[in-house]
Amino acid sequence: MPELPEVETIAQGLREPLVGRQFTGVHVGWADLIARPAVEELKRRLVGQRILDVQRRGKYLVFALSSGASLIVHLRMTGRLLIKNSGAELDKHDHLILVLDDGRELRFNEMRKLGRVYLVDDEDEIVGDLGPEPLDDDFTAADFAALLSTRRGMIKPLLLNQRFMAGVGNIYADEALFAARIHPERRADTLTAEEIERLYHAIRQVLRQGIENRGTTLTAYRDVEGREGVNQEYLQVSRRTDEPCLRCGTPIERTVVGGRGTYFCPKCQKPALEVGG
Ligand SMILES: [Zn+2]
Repeated sequence: MPELPEVETIAQGLREPLVGRQFTGVHVGWADLIARPAVEELKRRLVGQRILDVQRRGKYLVFALSSGASLIVHLRMTGRLLIKNSGAELDKHDHLILVLDDGRELRFNEMRKLGRVYLVDDEDEIVGDLGPEPLDDDFTAADFAALLSTRRGMIKPLLLNQRFMAGVGNIYADEALFAARIHPERRADTLTAEEIERLYHAIRQVLRQGIENRGTTLTAYRDVEGREGVNQEYLQVSRRTDEPCLRCGTPIERTVVGGRGTYFCPKCQKPALEVGG
C-alpha cells in the first residue's frame, strides 16, 4: 500500500503537470471508485474546474479546485495516478480518466478497484480526523511523547493508526521500530524517554529516506510516470525473513502483530523485560 513517502512522491510529481490546468472531461469506467458524490454530479462539478494545488495529507492526495471544493484520492492497495497523453493506449484498469486542457489526462489506474475518490466542499469531511503529520516542522519529539503518554496499546499498531499519526503504514513502521531498536509489541506506556526520542527521529528518518528514494516498490506502487521507486533496495528489515540483521547478523524474523505481517530483529529489538522476574 502506498504510504506517506509514496503518496508524497506522487503529489510532487502531479504538481508540475496539473497546477493551473483545467479539467475538460471526466470518464468513469467503474462507478464504485467514486465514493461521493454521485457520478453524474461529480462530472458536472469537475468539468471546467482549474487545479490550484496538489497536496498530501496522510496517505490521501488533496486537489484544491477553483470552485473551492477539494478532490481527494485514496489509493488504498494498488491504485496508481498516471499522467498520460490523450490518445495513449488505455489500460484495462484505467477506471477514471480526468481530461486536461493541454492534451494530457490524469488516469486513476486501479487493479483491485479498492481506491476511492471524493469531491467535497470541506476536505475535513475526509481528512479531518487524521493525526499529525510526522514530517511537519512543528511536530516535535515533545509532541510525539505527549501523544504516546495517553496510550497503552502495542506500539506498532499505534503507529499504523492514522488518527494517532498520519501517513505511516506497515513497511515504514517496521523500518522505524528497527532503527529505534524497539520491539513491535512493546506497550506504548512502557517506552522510556530515550526510546521515544529514538523512535521519533527514526520515523522521520525512514520517511525522509523513502521520499528521497521516490518510494518503495514491492508490487503495485508506481510514480505518476509509471516508474518504480528505489527505496526497496534500502529496507533494513521488511521482507528480509531469515536474512542477517544488518546491525548484528541475527536472522530477521517475521511475525504477526495486530493482524499485520511484521519484520524485526529478535536481538536488536528485545521484548519488554518481565516485571518482577
Ligand atoms: Zn540485529
